[in-house]
Amino acid sequence: MADTTNSNDLQQNSLSDTVSNTNEIPLLIGTDNSTSDSGDVEEPPAKKCKISLNDKPRLLEDRIGSILSCCICLDLSTLAMFQCVNGHLMCVSCFNHLLADCKLKDEQATCPNCRCEISKSNCTRNLAVEKTISELPIQCDYCSKIFLRSEIKIHQSQHCPDRPIICDYSLLGCNWNGSYHNLPSHLILCEYPNKTGLELINTIRAQKTKYDEEKKSLETVVDLLSLNQIGVSDLILKPLRTDDFVAKLYFETSRFTALQYQWQVRARINDNIPHPHTTVTRSLSYQLILKSKVSQTIDLKFFILKGPHGDSSTLQIQPIIYHFEFNQNNTETEYLKLPISSQECNRILSSSSISFRLLMVQLDRP
Ligand SMILES: [Zn+2]
Ligand SMILES: [Zn+2]
Ligand SMILES: [Zn+2]
Ligand SMILES: [Zn+2]
Repeated sequence: MADTTNSNDLQQNSLSDTVSNTNEIPLLIGTDNSTSDSGDVEEPPAKKCKISLNDKPRLLEDRIGSILSCCICLDLSTLAMFQCVNGHLMCVSCFNHLLADCKLKDEQATCPNCRCEISKSNCTRNLAVEKTISELPIQCDYCSKIFLRSEIKIHQSQHCPDRPIICDYSLLGCNWNGSYHNLPSHLILCEYPNKTGLELINTIRAQKTKYDEEKKSLETVVDLLSLNQIGVSDLILKPLRTDDFVAKLYFETSRFTALQYQWQVRARINDNIPHPHTTVTRSLSYQLILKSKVSQTIDLKFFILKGPHGDSSTLQIQPIIYHFEFNQNNTETEYLKLPISSQECNRILSSSSISFRLLMVQLDRP
């Protein structure tokens, strides 16, 4: 009997301890750390105690943060936020990735929360969520101080005393890098401003070679554009499925006429490796096909640029010039890499069609 009473007493004690601890947390914060070693695991770390003397705003921020986070990556995104018809939130990169995955698998994309169908047309951005997120606090990656999400980009790139920076004389070859507040002391020691021309000439030559190459490739584009026989085609790649054993996703333009011949462009994801939806990195490559019957050789240079139509606001394609001699036996080029990032590739895949501009220049026979 005595034993039972004791254990009941103990239970009551520990219960009331827990309750009183929870109630006391707001009082403990910012006042005294010595009481915090009472064994409570839920105790917030000392750093957070410094943030606010009043506990309520911090908790509210955390609670709002977890409500507004992306339901796929669980992060608070500073990018666009989309929602399904039932209001579940997804950041734009998860949204695009999900749509791209489902397109590759030939499945209807669904919301990971409620399984309703999602697409570019039935999901909308939620500006109120985006604006609320931008008002929530975030810690600077470099100095650990707290800023509004709307201010953090400028702080980290321009104002943070601990932001990473390179030496003022990096162009002369100095490889120093460190925190911004350490730069003045490095500049006192840096030996590059006092080096002689003889010592620096090789670094400068190497840089000039690099810039010359870039300049040359742009000059080639300009030269090609001034040639006589030139075709500019604004094309749209549409998804197409094969009846192979495993359904594969291709893209194809309709036939088009340029330089008096009929052509077609095909594209494929990750160079046709099986199960592209299981890979993290994605690439897009394309093939130019001559559809007309020809008796002579067509000596052609061609390259792809972003198209004037469609959602191409962020898509940037470096012009890479390819050269191919088409004749009656050689009517298809290899698959050629499109120089875009994996993320761009997902963005392209998630839209219903791909719009681009193809420039073809026929070289004169010597
Ligand atoms: Zn996300
Ligand atoms: Zn949903
Ligand atoms: Zn900072
Ligand atoms: Zn230096």
